[in-house]
Formats: sequence, structure tokens, C-alpha cells
Amino acid sequence: MSEDCAENTCPCGSSKRYVFCCKFLHDGLLKAPTAEALMRSRYSAYVFKFRDYLLKTWHEDFRPKFLNFEKDLEWLSLEIIDKERGLESDDDGFVEFKAFFKKAKRKSFMQERSYFKKIDAKWFYVSRG
Ligand SMILES: [Zn+2]
Repeated sequence: MSEDCAENTCPCGSSKRYVFCCKFLHDGLLKAPTAEALMRSRYSAYVFKFRDYLLKTWHEDFRPKFLNFEKDLEWLSLEIIDKERGLESDDDGFVEFKAFFKKAKRKSFMQERSYFKKIDAKWFYVSRG
């Protein structure tokens, strides 16, 4: 990742700069306090193609052996639609989102209701809810 990237607004939609947002989580300096924070950091990890971060924040029972990024797919933005639990006081929760992307010059989006679980004070992505 270039320096430019670090100076830019975080792709997760927080409107903070990346260095003051998901970078703390990507670098392992902070733990995601909520399921939504983990969700956002995983989205920006897809933007930056941070494979290791995506795998290590995936619940081990559901984690894929390999993670390949689709070629010529460009992530455009993230919109959180709904949340259920997933707060600091919870042990699990759902985050529903729309992720907009461009592929082969066509814009589209995927919508998913993701399930997250907290294990030993760390949030993990489990599966599509
Ligand atoms: Zn962020």
C-alpha cells in the first residue's frame, strides 16, 4: 500500500482518515470494539487486499483455506443497513450491509447479513446470517 493510501479517507465509510480508522485494526494495535467496527475493517481489508487480516478475523470453523480476490473488481463503498446486538456488551451480533462495486465497467452491489461472534474479547466474522 502506498503512502497516499494511508493519507486518504478510510474506505469503510467512517469519513475518518485511514490512519485514524481501520489502520489501527489492520496493524493489530486495536481490537474492534463492536461487530460493526470489525465489519467495516474487513470491508476496507477487501479494498486493500489484506488477505491475512481477512483470514485471521474469520471464525476458524468457517475460515476458508484460501482467499482469492476477484480480478478487475473494484470496491466502491460500504453502507451499513441494519445491526442487531454486536455491541461491546454482547457476545454475538448481526450486521447487514450493502457493498458497492464495479466489475467489468458495470456497477453493482452485494447485500449480506453477516453473523459475528466474540471469542476471548475478540470479534470474528462467522458467516452469512
Ligand atoms: Zn475505517
